[in-house]
Amino acid sequence: MDLGIKGKTALVTASSKGLGRGCAEALAAAGVNLVLNARGAEALETTAAVIRAAHGVQVTTVAGDITTEKGRARVLAAAAGADILVTNAGGPPPGLWSDWSRDDFIRALDANMLTPIALMQALLPGMIGRKWGRVVNITSQSVKGPIAQLGLSNAARAGLTGFVAGTSRQVAEHGVTINNMLPGIHDTDRATALDSGVIKAKGITMDQARAERAATIPARRYGTSAEFGAMCAFLCSAHAGFIVGQNILLDGGATNVTL
Ligand code: NAP
Repeated sequence: MDLGIKGKTALVTASSKGLGRGCAEALAAAGVNLVLNARGAEALETTAAVIRAAHGVQVTTVAGDITTEKGRARVLAAAAGADILVTNAGGPPPGLWSDWSRDDFIRALDANMLTPIALMQALLPGMIGRKWGRVVNITSQSVKGPIAQLGLSNAARAGLTGFVAGTSRQVAEHGVTINNMLPGIHDTDRATALDSGVIKAKGITMDQARAERAATIPARRYGTSAEFGAMCAFLCSAHAGFIVGQNILLDGGATNVTL
């Protein structure tokens, strides 16, 4: 299917690896030029080179922490006029509800709520002016069903979801859509880090930890960044202009909800 977005420009933050990279690759396959970001310059440059070689699109890289004002300013300077915004950042650490201090909450809110909001506030006016835009925020299945040990994620992403619910309905009349993608377990470094915690806590091997987790997913496997990216590219496509303010689960059926 021709996604109808060839020649447009997308900013994808936190995109040298994992789900952000999956989104970047799928957008590039649709002919979209990219601004990519991550803290580590080496992996970022490698990803950019692979995407340029595979898809022949322009790829600009900005190394820096997207959760800081300074990092965001540098990224936004390179992405002025972007038609598509995919927001992403690292997820907060796991723990117990009783462990977290005010500073822990502020860090999680900064990364997973206030950063995507700041990026939208910066790029939405241009999209509204041009009468076309697409925003996809990578959040988490924890928005639909809380994950006990990820209370910081449950809290911060719920705040972002509330902001998007209202804002998406204010900008839709200008041809601009905002939606959220809610990943369940996907085979990325983040999943490996979470499984490493399980290994330590239970004294089991990585294979056992992954098999145990896969058994809790109706699809009986982890998701892939490529299938996540394909949905992201569709939400950013010319065909998705009537999809507004939605929270789309990609979790192999893991979240046991009817709606
Ligand atoms: P990942 O494989 O660890 O990749 C994270 C990417 O983001 C890397 O490119 C990383 O590069 C970059 N990054 C992290 N923090 C950043 C920052 N502050 N500024 C700029 N770039 C940053 O993670 P993932 O699995 O793709 O997860 C992406 C998001 O989805 C996270 O918020 C995660 O919590 C959420 N999520 C993931 C899963 C899953 O199963 N994978 C499930 C639910 C939710 P650098 O480290 O070099 O910066």
